[in-house]
Amino acid sequence: MKIIGLTGGIGSGKSTIAKEFAARGIPVYNSDDEAKKLIATNAQLRQRITETFGENAYINGQYNKAYIAQIVFNDANQLAQLNAIVHPALAVHFREWVQQQNTPYVIKEAAILFESGSYKDCDFIISVVAPEDLRIARVIARDHCTEAQVKARMAQQWTDAQRIALSNAVIENIDLEKAKQQVERIVKCEL
Ligand code: ATP
Repeated sequence: MKIIGLTGGIGSGKSTIAKEFAARGIPVYNSDDEAKKLIATNAQLRQRITETFGENAYINGQYNKAYIAQIVFNDANQLAQLNAIVHPALAVHFREWVQQQNTPYVIKEAAILFESGSYKDCDFIISVVAPEDLRIARVIARDHCTEAQVKARMAQQWTDAQRIALSNAVIENIDLEKAKQQVERIVKCEL
């Protein structure tokens, strides 16, 4: 089973493009969503996150995402600590998920595929790219956050140029119809 990594910076439209692959029958593992689920439900992760970030990390048993976000998205060291706790558990969960699929390849969608090093486990890497101002506008519209908050997230991620240099394919996601045609071309070729 081949692993196709699908990545892109915040607001590039990775999830939008991942849905296009899913609509064409390709199983998609959304690393960000699965990490959130593990953080919410896995007792060992909860214990380690509480030890590292304090009792406020969970309120009434619920993961306090806003509290953790304001810590880690302003401090690269804290983000690295969170990732060091979550990524090994996520890698195990991903391997189990792969075992359950029966297609020639699956898509692993991850915002920080390169930054986390998990791109090394992929057979083929697709990066979704879009101009920075468009990405910022999309995230502000989607999350109702500030430009500064989006830029703080961007500062912790690789640039499009860095991602492109290590990618096997690049999907430019400005006009969605054109991006869908690029998905179609990738799905049609035998990977
Ligand atoms: P994040 O890294 O924050 O999870 P993402 O890269 O997965 O972001 P999406 O959530 O897919 O990005 O897209 C960001 C926003 O932009 C969404 O509201 C989505 O609907 C919108 N969007 C994505 N692609 C396009 C497009 N081609 N045209 C218009 N809107 C788009």
